[in-house]
Amino acid sequence: MNFLEERIARDGVVKEGNVLKVDSFLNHQMDVELFDKMGEEYARRFAGKKITKILTIEASGIGIASVVALHFHVPVVFAKKSKSINLDGEMYTAEVESFTHKNVSHVIVSKKFLTPEDHILIIDDFLANGCALQGLIQIAKQAGATVEGIGIAIEKGFQSGGRIIRNLGYQLESLAIVDSMDAATGSITFREQ
Ligand code: 5GP
Repeated sequence: MNFLEERIARDGVVKEGNVLKVDSFLNHQMDVELFDKMGEEYARRFAGKKITKILTIEASGIGIASVVALHFHVPVVFAKKSKSINLDGEMYTAEVESFTHKNVSHVIVSKKFLTPEDHILIIDDFLANGCALQGLIQIAKQAGATVEGIGIAIEKGFQSGGRIIRNLGYQLESLAIVDSMDAATGSITFREQ
Protein backbone atom coordinates (compact mmCIF):
# COMPACT_ATOMS: atom_id res chain seq x y z
CA MET A 1 0.00 0.00 0.00
CA ASN A 2 1.23 3.51 -0.71
CA PHE A 3 1.07 6.34 1.84
CA LEU A 4 -2.43 7.47 0.84
CA GLU A 5 -3.89 3.96 0.75
CA GLU A 6 -2.45 3.36 4.22
CA ARG A 7 -4.07 6.52 5.51
CA ILE A 8 -7.44 5.65 3.96
CA ALA A 9 -7.26 2.14 5.44
CA ARG A 10 -6.51 3.66 8.86
CA ASP A 11 -8.81 6.70 8.97
CA GLY A 12 -11.36 6.34 6.13
CA VAL A 13 -14.94 5.40 7.01
CA VAL A 14 -17.18 3.57 4.55
CA LYS A 15 -20.74 4.91 4.50
CA GLU A 16 -23.90 3.57 2.90
CA GLY A 17 -24.50 4.73 -0.66
CA ASN A 18 -20.92 4.17 -1.88
CA VAL A 19 -19.58 7.16 0.04
CA LEU A 20 -16.12 7.07 1.59
CA LYS A 21 -15.66 9.58 4.39
CA VAL A 22 -12.16 10.96 4.69
CA ASP A 23 -13.02 14.17 6.47
CA SER A 24 -10.50 13.64 9.27
CA PHE A 25 -7.56 14.20 6.90
CA LEU A 26 -8.63 15.16 3.36
CA ASN A 27 -11.69 17.31 2.94
CA HIS A 28 -12.73 18.84 6.26
CA GLN A 29 -9.81 18.62 8.67
CA MET A 30 -6.82 18.70 6.31
CA ASP A 31 -3.44 17.02 6.78
CA VAL A 32 -1.31 19.39 4.75
CA GLU A 33 1.79 17.26 5.19
CA LEU A 34 -0.09 14.46 3.46
CA PHE A 35 -1.05 16.94 0.70
CA ASP A 36 2.62 17.84 0.40
CA LYS A 37 3.52 14.16 -0.18
CA MET A 38 0.72 13.98 -2.75
CA GLY A 39 2.23 17.01 -4.50
CA GLU A 40 5.62 15.31 -4.56
CA GLU A 41 4.04 12.22 -6.13
CA TYR A 42 2.13 14.21 -8.79
CA ALA A 43 5.35 16.09 -9.61
CA ARG A 44 6.98 12.69 -10.23
CA ARG A 45 4.08 11.32 -12.28
CA PHE A 46 3.72 14.45 -14.40
CA ALA A 47 7.45 15.14 -14.71
CA GLY A 48 8.34 16.55 -18.11
CA LYS A 49 4.89 18.03 -18.70
CA LYS A 50 4.71 21.76 -19.10
CA ILE A 51 2.19 22.94 -16.51
CA THR A 52 1.27 26.63 -16.23
CA LYS A 53 -1.81 26.40 -14.03
CA ILE A 54 -3.64 24.07 -11.69
CA LEU A 55 -7.42 23.92 -12.03
CA THR A 56 -9.71 22.54 -9.33
CA ILE A 57 -13.27 22.86 -8.13
CA GLU A 58 -14.83 24.45 -5.04
CA ALA A 59 -14.73 23.43 -2.27
CA SER A 60 -12.82 20.32 -1.30
CA GLY A 61 -10.29 20.44 -4.15
CA ILE A 62 -8.91 23.81 -3.10
CA GLY A 63 -6.81 22.75 -0.11
CA ILE A 64 -5.16 19.87 -1.95
CA ALA A 65 -4.59 21.89 -5.14
CA SER A 66 -2.97 24.72 -3.19
CA VAL A 67 -0.37 22.51 -1.57
CA VAL A 68 0.20 20.52 -4.78
CA ALA A 69 0.82 23.82 -6.61
CA LEU A 70 3.89 24.44 -4.43
CA HIS A 71 5.52 21.52 -6.29
CA PHE A 72 4.71 22.99 -9.72
CA HIS A 73 5.31 26.68 -8.88
CA VAL A 74 2.13 27.78 -10.66
CA PRO A 75 -1.12 29.51 -9.61
CA VAL A 76 -4.28 27.62 -8.67
CA VAL A 77 -7.62 28.54 -10.23
CA PHE A 78 -10.74 27.03 -8.72
CA ALA A 79 -14.07 26.77 -10.50
CA LYS A 80 -16.66 28.51 -8.34
CA LYS A 81 -20.10 27.09 -7.77
CA SER A 82 -22.70 29.65 -8.79
CA LYS A 83 -26.48 29.71 -8.42
CA SER A 84 -27.04 31.99 -11.39
CA ILE A 85 -25.28 31.85 -14.72
CA ASN A 86 -23.67 35.14 -15.43
CA LEU A 87 -24.39 35.99 -19.02
CA ASP A 88 -22.10 38.97 -19.41
CA GLY A 89 -19.56 36.87 -21.31
CA GLU A 90 -16.82 37.33 -18.74
CA MET A 91 -16.98 33.75 -17.50
CA TYR A 92 -16.49 30.21 -18.74
CA THR A 93 -19.34 28.07 -17.39
CA ALA A 94 -20.15 24.37 -17.08
CA GLU A 95 -22.85 22.28 -15.45
CA VAL A 96 -21.80 19.80 -12.77
CA GLU A 97 -23.98 17.19 -11.15
CA SER A 98 -22.87 16.53 -7.58
CA PHE A 99 -22.39 12.89 -6.61
CA THR A 100 -22.64 13.61 -2.89
CA HIS A 101 -25.40 16.23 -2.95
CA LYS A 102 -27.37 14.86 -5.93
CA ASN A 103 -28.01 18.31 -7.39
CA VAL A 104 -26.86 20.18 -10.48
CA SER A 105 -24.88 23.35 -10.09
CA HIS A 106 -23.12 25.70 -12.44
CA VAL A 107 -19.43 26.31 -12.07
CA ILE A 108 -17.73 29.40 -13.39
CA VAL A 109 -14.18 30.58 -14.05
CA SER A 110 -13.33 34.12 -15.03
CA LYS A 111 -11.93 34.43 -18.56
CA LYS A 112 -9.12 36.50 -17.04
CA PHE A 113 -7.55 33.42 -15.46
CA LEU A 114 -7.45 30.80 -18.24
CA THR A 115 -6.18 31.43 -21.74
CA PRO A 116 -5.19 29.39 -24.83
CA GLU A 117 -1.55 29.62 -23.65
CA ASP A 118 -2.32 27.66 -20.49
CA HIS A 119 -1.27 24.06 -19.90
CA ILE A 120 -3.48 22.76 -17.14
CA LEU A 121 -3.14 20.13 -14.47
CA ILE A 122 -6.58 19.35 -13.01
CA ILE A 123 -6.58 18.30 -9.35
CA ASP A 124 -9.51 17.00 -7.28
CA ASP A 125 -10.11 14.96 -4.15
CA PHE A 126 -12.46 12.28 -5.51
CA LEU A 127 -13.39 10.73 -8.82
CA ALA A 128 -16.74 8.93 -8.82
CA ASN A 129 -18.86 9.27 -11.97
CA GLY A 130 -16.62 11.92 -13.46
CA CYS A 131 -19.11 14.81 -13.63
CA ALA A 132 -16.86 17.23 -11.78
CA LEU A 133 -13.92 16.39 -14.06
CA GLN A 134 -16.04 16.67 -17.20
CA GLY A 135 -17.11 20.15 -16.09
CA LEU A 136 -13.49 21.20 -15.53
CA ILE A 137 -12.43 19.74 -18.89
CA GLN A 138 -15.26 21.67 -20.57
CA ILE A 139 -14.05 24.89 -18.96
CA ALA A 140 -10.47 24.25 -20.11
CA LYS A 141 -11.80 23.61 -23.64
CA GLN A 142 -13.77 26.86 -23.65
CA ALA A 143 -10.56 28.66 -22.75
CA GLY A 144 -8.69 26.90 -25.57
CA ALA A 145 -6.23 25.67 -22.94
CA THR A 146 -4.47 22.28 -23.01
CA VAL A 147 -5.23 19.71 -20.31
CA GLU A 148 -1.86 18.09 -19.65
CA GLY A 149 -3.08 15.73 -16.98
CA ILE A 150 -5.47 14.99 -14.14
CA GLY A 151 -4.43 14.17 -10.59
CA ILE A 152 -6.99 12.63 -8.25
CA ALA A 153 -6.51 11.65 -4.64
CA ILE A 154 -9.12 8.87 -4.43
CA GLU A 155 -10.77 7.22 -7.42
CA LYS A 156 -13.70 4.93 -6.75
CA GLY A 157 -12.82 2.34 -9.38
CA PHE A 158 -16.21 0.67 -9.21
CA GLN A 159 -17.88 3.82 -10.58
CA SER A 160 -17.63 4.85 -14.21
CA GLY A 161 -15.64 8.12 -14.08
CA GLY A 162 -12.13 6.68 -14.35
CA ARG A 163 -12.95 4.58 -17.42
CA ILE A 164 -14.72 7.49 -19.15
CA ILE A 165 -11.88 9.95 -18.54
CA ARG A 166 -9.12 7.47 -19.55
CA ASN A 167 -11.08 6.60 -22.70
CA LEU A 168 -11.04 10.29 -23.60
CA GLY A 169 -7.25 9.95 -23.70
CA TYR A 170 -6.25 11.97 -20.64
CA GLN A 171 -3.35 11.01 -18.39
CA LEU A 172 -5.33 10.35 -15.23
CA GLU A 173 -3.29 9.63 -12.11
CA SER A 174 -5.23 8.53 -9.05
CA LEU A 175 -3.08 8.02 -5.97
CA ALA A 176 -5.53 5.48 -4.55
CA ILE A 177 -8.09 3.47 -6.50
CA VAL A 178 -10.76 1.81 -4.39
CA ASP A 179 -12.03 -1.28 -6.18
CA SER A 180 -14.59 -2.22 -3.57
CA MET A 181 -15.77 -1.17 -0.15
CA ASP A 182 -18.32 -2.48 2.28
CA ALA A 183 -20.27 -0.30 4.67
CA ALA A 184 -21.25 -3.27 6.84
CA THR A 185 -17.71 -4.50 7.55
CA GLY A 186 -15.83 -1.27 6.82
CA SER A 187 -13.47 -3.15 4.49
CA ILE A 188 -11.78 -1.32 1.61
CA THR A 189 -9.95 -3.03 -1.28
CA PHE A 190 -7.44 -1.09 -3.37
CA ARG A 191 -6.48 -1.75 -6.98
CA GLU A 192 -2.85 -2.82 -7.47
CA GLN A 193 -1.09 -0.04 -9.38
P1 5GP B 1 -18.06 12.81 -9.65
O1 5GP B 1 -18.35 14.15 -10.24
O2 5GP B 1 -16.80 12.17 -10.18
O3 5GP B 1 -19.24 11.87 -9.69
O4 5GP B 1 -17.82 13.06 -8.11
C1 5GP B 1 -16.72 13.80 -7.70
C2 5GP B 1 -17.05 14.76 -6.60
O5 5GP B 1 -18.00 14.21 -5.68
C3 5GP B 1 -15.80 15.05 -5.82
O6 5GP B 1 -15.38 16.36 -6.10
C4 5GP B 1 -16.18 14.86 -4.37
O7 5GP B 1 -16.32 16.12 -3.76
C5 5GP B 1 -17.51 14.16 -4.38
N1 5GP B 1 -17.44 12.73 -4.02
C6 5GP B 1 -17.70 11.69 -4.84
N2 5GP B 1 -17.63 10.52 -4.19
C7 5GP B 1 -17.29 10.81 -2.93
C8 5GP B 1 -17.06 9.99 -1.75
O8 5GP B 1 -17.15 8.75 -1.74
N3 5GP B 1 -16.72 10.65 -0.62
C9 5GP B 1 -16.60 12.01 -0.57
N4 5GP B 1 -16.23 12.54 0.60
N5 5GP B 1 -16.82 12.81 -1.65
C10 5GP B 1 -17.16 12.22 -2.81
